[in-house]
Amino acid sequence: PAGHAKLDAGDRSHALGVRCFQNRTHAARTIATGFRKTAATTDKTAIAATAHGEYDDIRLPRTRTSMQRHAHRDTRRQITRSRKATMRIHITYTGGTIGMVESPNGLVPGADMRGWLRRLIEDAHLDPSLFSFTELDPLIDSSNATPDNWQTMADDLRAHRDDADAFVVLHGTDTMSYSSAALSYALTGFGKPVIFTGSQHPLGKIESDATANVTGALNAAMSGRFHGVGLFFGHHLFAGNRVSKSSSWAFEGFSAPSTGPLARTGTPWHWYAGDSAGSGCGWASPLPCSRHDVAVIDMAPGISAARLAAMLDPRPEAVLLRAYGVGNVPSDEPGLTDVIADVLHDGVPVVIASQCQQAEVLLGHYETGDAIARAGAIGSGDMTLEAAYAKIMFLLSQGVDAADFGTWMRRNIAGEISPSSM
Ligand code: ASP
Repeated sequence: PAGHAKLDAGDRSHALGVRCFQNRTHAARTIATGFRKTAATTDKTAIAATAHGEYDDIRLPRTRTSMQRHAHRDTRRQITRSRKATMRIHITYTGGTIGMVESPNGLVPGADMRGWLRRLIEDAHLDPSLFSFTELDPLIDSSNATPDNWQTMADDLRAHRDDADAFVVLHGTDTMSYSSAALSYALTGFGKPVIFTGSQHPLGKIESDATANVTGALNAAMSGRFHGVGLFFGHHLFAGNRVSKSSSWAFEGFSAPSTGPLARTGTPWHWYAGDSAGSGCGWASPLPCSRHDVAVIDMAPGISAARLAAMLDPRPEAVLLRAYGVGNVPSDEPGLTDVIADVLHDGVPVVIASQCQQAEVLLGHYETGDAIARAGAIGSGDMTLEAAYAKIMFLLSQGVDAADFGTWMRRNIAGEISPSSM
């Protein structure tokens, strides 16, 4: 594919193709089609985590004898093991704390991610030649991510679509849930699991959660039970468009307030009902995702119409208004709802989300949400902020105009919204 070429295993020095999106340059270096063997086998945790994770939980008919059940279980384990042993995995490394090192100005990318991954794969008794690895250039702190970076990730995954059976994306935690939501829309027809992960501590620290998260992501990707775009973190697997970063420090740093996780680690892993990311109507042949002018604005007690109007002048392409509760705004504040109605009148879609992490926006449920509902504001249902924002960016990138915007925001594209909340 354009912008990619393969390097001999071990050669990191040659920059490869360069892609340009909206005047920004992103070079992607495909580091290796496999990882060379080394003698180092230090990561015992990785071995343990993978060994424990490899047995999917098995529900057996109660009528079987215990001998039959054990035989059945052994067969399932053998099948799972042999499937995993031959699966080809592609890893896309985008940056984030996981691969950072200390610098005089704070943490920056710089760890030997490739070497660390190679040891981890070998310690888990997986065949390194079945792994390929792309390191995006530049590696970024995900606070710097834009929709152009989402597209770079999608391009890398698509470029390796036929060479791998499952995909893991290593990403900073700060905006990982925006990227995983965005890719869930961009990759509806991808047909292979893509699991995002990262860590709260760099991989080089003794207290790091990097090994547990990467082995967990690999297990989820290789499980055969998950399809779609997911995010693994802190012992849990989530649908990529249902998850938010909920802690800046805890190892269980992500949660899915509206749906809960899809699975949690253990011996065996426990898969909850509906073990795959939800499906939706999909999006055939999506156009590249690009940056658009979307204003994300929070309501706060005391906000005036003049302040809100100033924030919306000049007009953005779309507004994501974070209101209270089920989508309420201060209706007694003189002129405030008129500002929103004027924006809508100018053909700018206004999506109303909630400041509640666990929310179901029901515009018009209260008088405080009624005026904006009647003016044409669009409720975000039970979508996370990240899923709603990435969806707005995705729809603008597809050229969806104001007339169709509400229909698409309410339509389930990739499992991001529950039918009951639309
Ligand atoms: N600032 C980092 C990032 O998002 C935080 C992390 O990875 O945990 O890239």
